[in-house]
Amino acid sequence: MDLMEYQGKQYFARFGIPVSAGGIADTVDEAVAHAERLGYPVVVKAQVMTGGRGKAGGIKLAHNADEVRFHAGNILGMDIRGHIVRRLWIERASEIAKSSTRFKENGEPKDEEFYASFALDRSAKKYLGMLSVEGGVEIESVPDELIAKIHVDPIDGLSEADCRAWIAAANLPEAAREGAVPVLMALYRCYTEGDCELAEINPLILTTDGRVHALDAKVTLDDAARERHPEWAEFETVSVATGDSREALAKEKGLQYVGLDGNVGIIANGAGLAMSTVDIVKQVGGAPANFLDIGGGASAEVMVNALTVINTDPNVRAIFINIFGGITRCDEVARGIVEAMKRITLNAPIVARIDGTNAAEGRAILKANESEKLVMLPDMLSAAQKAVEIAGK
Ligand code: GDP
Ligand code: MN
Repeated sequence: MDLMEYQGKQYFARFGIPVSAGGIADTVDEAVAHAERLGYPVVVKAQVMTGGRGKAGGIKLAHNADEVRFHAGNILGMDIRGHIVRRLWIERASEIAKSSTRFKENGEPKDEEFYASFALDRSAKKYLGMLSVEGGVEIESVPDELIAKIHVDPIDGLSEADCRAWIAAANLPEAAREGAVPVLMALYRCYTEGDCELAEINPLILTTDGRVHALDAKVTLDDAARERHPEWAEFETVSVATGDSREALAKEKGLQYVGLDGNVGIIANGAGLAMSTVDIVKQVGGAPANFLDIGGGASAEVMVNALTVINTDPNVRAIFINIFGGITRCDEVARGIVEAMKRITLNAPIVARIDGTNAAEGRAILKANESEKLVMLPDMLSAAQKAVEIAGK
């Protein structure tokens, strides 16, 4: 489950990560009321489940009530990468220190904006911490040599000494080094004890008065740990109330998704085949949980995205993947499915039917990978029946 920035900050605060005081607003008047209470300047921030809000005009500084009114009015209702802004976060603006060693192309000093995150490195079977002095931009655009990586064995945990060495390796400015230690230790605790799949601060800043502080929060909670966290229920109701739920997640990933009420998740390529798949599931007595068209390609990436969306639906008991290989060959599709299953832990088994170009090779790959989580059936009818049977158990 992905959290919005303000929820991520609430979560951060529980673990002692310093964040700014603020308040949520669904109307312009609420935004102004928060700003008056907080004191100026404030930042008016769009709350949507996607990054790059700053670039899209969804983050604005305001120095008085009129400016808050103006920006809040503009940002509410704005479409940011397919997400309609229905909620704002108003926070007290921070003053960011200027770097004495890093400069922009025009010669001006850069702001002291860093990047910090923890996630899981599956292939290393360890946690991966990433830290960079080049924050405030997408980490994908930062050259590898400017990212200090640390692998943490979950059994050993992160020691303060390791944390200091990591900070030194990232070449954080002297003035930020001591202050970064407790923040990164807290981020590690948030990631582990807080059961996150991703805990990211971008930017992590050095303020003009020498504090290290989180300006943004990107948190993905690990759905598999949900039963340990009754307090997460509060985050779910919000994502439904703001309409920013599975549909938005699918849209962001470039998928055509429509949620339905049943328990058989559906993934197909092409709108026609996806509709036929919904129909055949009904025909054999089942109830589709969704319509999902992955479009032309069926790479591992696309499969991971599609399965991630379906995996967030707690009603799904079986997933029917129905692919007709055209330009995308069935062996690629099969490898995509197998690879996707390595990357995400599914809550329901897959029944896959693939046909078309290179069907024999594709089926052989799926057969070789059959398990209680993956069944391959060559034709649409028997696959639909199998999926419905599993879902009904
Ligand atoms: P994102 O664009 O969705 O990642 O949104 P962020 O919350 O990261 O904000 C984008 C940028 O706005 C940051 O990188 C900062 O440069 C700037 N920004 C956000 N909050 C503040 C603030 O309190 N003070 C200042 N000076 N800049 C801010
Ligand atoms: Mn950011």
